[in-house]
Amino acid sequence: MAHPDDVDFGAAGTIAQWVDEGIEVSYCIVTDGDAGGFDPAVPRDQIGDIRRAEQIEAAKQVGVSDVRFLGYPDGRLAVTFELRRDIARVIREVRPQRVICQSPTRNMLRIPASHPDHLATGEATMCAIYPDARNPFAYPDLADLPRGRSRRRGCRATSGSTATST
Ligand SMILES: [Zn+2]
Repeated sequence: MAHPDDVDFGAAGTIAQWVDEGIEVSYCIVTDGDAGGFDPAVPRDQIGDIRRAEQIEAAKQVGVSDVRFLGYPDGRLAVTFELRRDIARVIREVRPQRVICQSPTRNMLRIPASHPDHLATGEATMCAIYPDARNPFAYPDLADLPRGRSRRRGCRATSGSTATST
């Protein structure tokens, strides 16, 4: 997900149910949300730390303890090879059977859901799922990490996020 709180607004109920069923869940948050907040009295250089702490606490509330932050700047995401590589690294480390990410497709009826960071994260994640995580030659600096599964297991898209199996 692009920002701290995106997973909470978009999928926390589903994740809580998965955790209750014994499924291990990891979060990968691309930015620290440092362009967010609403209180001008809070120093801007504290926002990232505050939002990371909030995300970790929110994850804990639904039983998730593995929260990874990639540290990209909030509001300035683009689909780059570096972003794809960093997400592919997490996929290779975690080896998920399913991934929830934001949709890479702009929804003109729900513009806030189509924040440019969400679109970039969705597209970079889809690229990381296929082909990056499974291609041994995609990122030589990830060569020491296991690759994803070679067989495809299907894909399901919803209006606000995309769930896919790798
Ligand atoms: Zn967001």
